[in-house]
Amino acid sequence: MALQAIKGFNDILPPATTTWRWVENTFHQLLSSYGFGEIRLPIMEYTELFSRSIGDDTDIVEKEMYTFSDRSNRSLTLRPEGTASVVRAFIQHGLAAAGDIHKLYYVGPMFRYERPQKGRYRQFYQLGAEVFGEEDYHQDAEILIMLARYFHVLGVRSAKLNLNSLGCEKCRPAYRQALQDFLRQHDGQLCTDCRRRLGKNPLRVLDCKRPDCRNIVAGAPKILDYLGADCRAHFDGVTRLLDGAGLDYQVNPLMVRGLDYYTRTTFEFLAGDLGAQNAVAAGGRYDRLVEELGGKATPAIGFAIGMERLTMLVDSASVPGSAPFIYLAALGEKALEMLYPLLHALNQEGIGTVLNYRQKSLKNLMKKADRIKVEYTLIVGDQEMEQGAAILRNMKTKEQQSIPLNTLFASIREVFNGHQNN
Ligand code: ATP
Ligand code: MG
Repeated sequence: MALQAIKGFNDILPPATTTWRWVENTFHQLLSSYGFGEIRLPIMEYTELFSRSIGDDTDIVEKEMYTFSDRSNRSLTLRPEGTASVVRAFIQHGLAAAGDIHKLYYVGPMFRYERPQKGRYRQFYQLGAEVFGEEDYHQDAEILIMLARYFHVLGVRSAKLNLNSLGCEKCRPAYRQALQDFLRQHDGQLCTDCRRRLGKNPLRVLDCKRPDCRNIVAGAPKILDYLGADCRAHFDGVTRLLDGAGLDYQVNPLMVRGLDYYTRTTFEFLAGDLGAQNAVAAGGRYDRLVEELGGKATPAIGFAIGMERLTMLVDSASVPGSAPFIYLAALGEKALEMLYPLLHALNQEGIGTVLNYRQKSLKNLMKKADRIKVEYTLIVGDQEMEQGAAILRNMKTKEQQSIPLNTLFASIREVFNGHQNN
């Protein structure tokens, strides 16, 4: 049997890649306009970076990491997410110069050993961003409004914001205790993972996807009732700005997210039309993480968007076209020799052009041209060579016109310019 790609690792082929590139380019533009700079990160890190940041009790660290030893027996891991690496780079390169705000964004593949299904793969792509050094709730709202704007530009209308606050190290202990007391009363009905996590990290139980656990959790104490004055004011500040911007959202006091490092604002954008894997983007504040990883205490907030899920929501018809402008249909040897220089001359002029080499049937050529979605086809066969004029066919209107062979370049350029101005 021929070799296959690894299970859960996908090839992304045209025309899907056209949508991907547009989604990425739009992200680059939007993030640049909000003052973010791009960071390119390594695909692998020392395993410790992820276990220390994401948390030992999370699904990701417990069972989803691609971890292996290199030839010097160091434990390496293919990155399961981007934030840990950005924080590592932020500290390593001393970007934390006092008082500065740093806005960084990234685009690239992540790796998690999960059961492959719709919207869940083992290699998947994220578009993400992090802001360091800003504690103000305006920053949280800026990110949320910017994300909503991004979805709007892409024509994605179904992504709905879910919002919560996880408080800080001051309000968390009382909540943790209340949650633990509650869960202990029901531990017989919890799954084995949750029973184990209950003692050490009860907030993890809120993130369990098993129906039985979800039923119990629905009646659990809510973190929002335990927020201290500062965290409450921060949360109210965020919702006030979202209201002001006319952004719809739902407060979900049981959302904790699958990573341990979050504080205060946490959020998910959910899209009903995605089915079971409905989170298209997620993120939140992590005001303690930089310090925990050995840097100077620095407030921070970030998000990551799942590329596969996002592109599923994008209507490919709304993607700006990138097809060549004209198909040169050479029917015969002489026509080919004449059209070959035109292929390069037109492309050099910025007029997207393709040429066929050994095709004899006009019908097949037209089918090909249709499939590529060119605007025009230029047909030159033996008869056209004899008569000294080619046929230019508008693929949409099916109108045809005759153009002299000795003015082909100028005529096509004229048609192209006219098309551009329309
Ligand atoms: P989920 O609850 O869907 O498993 P998560 O909490 O694990 O998501 P994050 O770690 O916050 O997700 O990642 C951010 C986004 O990346 C998700 O909202 C999703 O769109 C995407 N994502 C996460 N895991 C995968 C995966 N295995 N395959 C494809 N996309 C993914
Ligand atoms: Mg997950």
